[in-house]
Amino acid sequence: MSLPRDGLPAEQVLEEIRALRAADRPTHGGRLFAYVYDPGLPGLDALAQSAHEESAHVNGLDPTAFPSLLAIENVLVGAAATLLGGGPETVGSVTGGGTESLMLAVKAARDGAPSRQPRLVVPATGHAAFAKAAHYLGVALDVVPVSPQTLRPAVADVAAAIGPDTVLVACSAPSYAHGVVDPVAGIAAAAAERGVRCHVDACFGGWTLPYLRRLGVDVPPFDLSVPGVTSISVDLHKYAYAPKGVSVLLHRDADLRRPQYFAYADWPGYPMVNPVISSTRSGGPIAAAYAVLRHIGDEGYLALAARTWEAVRGLAAAVSAVDGLRLVAPPESTVVCFTSDVLDIFVLADELAARGWHTQPQFAYGELPASIHLTVTPSVAPRVGEFGADLRDAAAAARAAGPVSLPPVPLDAPLPALLAALGVGPGGLPERMATINTLLNAAPPAVREALLVDFLGHLQRPAY
Ligand SMILES: *Cc1c(COP(=O)(O)O)cnc(C)c1O
Repeated sequence: MSLPRDGLPAEQVLEEIRALRAADRPTHGGRLFAYVYDPGLPGLDALAQSAHEESAHVNGLDPTAFPSLLAIENVLVGAAATLLGGGPETVGSVTGGGTESLMLAVKAARDGAPSRQPRLVVPATGHAAFAKAAHYLGVALDVVPVSPQTLRPAVADVAAAIGPDTVLVACSAPSYAHGVVDPVAGIAAAAAERGVRCHVDACFGGWTLPYLRRLGVDVPPFDLSVPGVTSISVDLHKYAYAPKGVSVLLHRDADLRRPQYFAYADWPGYPMVNPVISSTRSGGPIAAAYAVLRHIGDEGYLALAARTWEAVRGLAAAVSAVDGLRLVAPPESTVVCFTSDVLDIFVLADELAARGWHTQPQFAYGELPASIHLTVTPSVAPRVGEFGADLRDAAAAARAAGPVSLPPVPLDAPLPALLAALGVGPGGLPERMATINTLLNAAPPAVREALLVDFLGHLQRPAY
C-alpha cells in the first residue's frame, strides 16, 4: 500500500481512495448530523474543486509573491465583517479552522495584555478548543457553570470570574453542543468594564444567525456591533459551505490584532511574518471558499437558512412527538439536541444508526444529561418526515432493548484487553457503540481522555 516501485496509473490510485472512502459516513444526503455541512446545491462541489485546483500550489507564506491569495483573503474577511457587524476599523485573518481562530484569539489577548499568569474565562458550554488554546498557550482556564435550564451562564457569574490576570472572556453564539446563544451583550459589557477583551465564538453559527434574524427568528445581538466585543470567529467550512480548512477571525481594530502576529527575522533565512499558526499554507481551500461564497451569494445564503430552519423546526417537532424523548433546549439556531428520562440515549443512537441516521451522542456533564446532538443543514429538509418515522421506531426498539450492561472489565485494564472486551477489533469500532459510550459516559473526564488518547495512538500506526 505504501510507495510502489513504479508509479501507478492515475485511475488506479483514485480507485484506491474510493475503495477506502466506502467505509466512511456519508458526507452528502442529509443522513449525517455532525462533521459535515451539506447545502445540497448541485454543482457546488465541482466549482469548489476547480477553484481549489487553481490555487492549490499557491503559498500563503508570502503575500508579496502571491498577491492573489492576499486579495482573496481580504474579500473573505470583508464578507465576514459585513455579516458580523464590523465597522471601518475591523480587520481579520483567514485561518485553517475554528480551533486555529480560537487559539489566535487567545494568543492575541495573552500577548496584548501581559500578565505573568494569564487566565481565560469561558462558560462550561464553550468549545473544547478554548481548553486546547489555554493548554498550548500556557493560559489558565476559569470555567463558568451554565444553568441546566437555559444552558447559558449568568452574566453575574461571568463578571465574578474576571480577575486581575484575566486576559480574555469568551462566549458562544451559539454553543456547539446545544446551539444556544450566550448573553453576549451582558458578558461583553462586564469584560469591557474591567478593560478585558471579549471573544465571541461564532465558529458554528456566525454564517447562519444573521440570516435567521432576517427570516424573523429571534436572534439576540451577538456580533461586533455589540459594545465590548473585541473579536469574533466564524468557520467558512461550516455554514458558509466551503470545503474543509477555512475560518475567519475578526478583530475590532488593527491594534487588537497586532499581537496575534508572529515575526522572526533573527536567523539566516527569510524574515518570517505569520498572521496565523501555519507558515506555508495552501491557497486551495481559501480559493475554494471564495468561489463558494461568491457563487451562493447573499440571497442564496438566506434561502439556505430558510431551508435549514424549516428542517430544525421539523426535527424538533419530530422529537417532541415521540413519547419519552424531550428537547434539551428549544432550538434557537441550527442544532437540535434531545435526551430521554426513560430510555437509554446511547442505545437510541445505535438504533438510529442501524436505520441509516448518524447522530452525535454527547456525554452527561454536571447536571446536564447525556444527549443526542443533531447539526442541521439544508440537505436534511427533504428527509424530516422519514427521520421522524425512524425516530419513533428507534425509540420503541431502544425502550424494548433496555440499557446496555457493561462487560466485566475494569477501566484501567491494559488497552488490548479493554478493546477486546468492548468488541473493538482490527476492523475498527463495533456496529453498536452503546457499550463504549456508556463506559466513557461513566468514566471521569480524565480517565476518558487517557482512554481516547491510547485508543487513537493504537489506531495511528504506519501501514506498509
Ligand atoms: C467547530 C467549532 C469549533 C472548532 O472548529 P474546528 O474547525 O473544528 O477546528 C469551535 N467553536 C465552535 C462553536 C464550533 O462549532
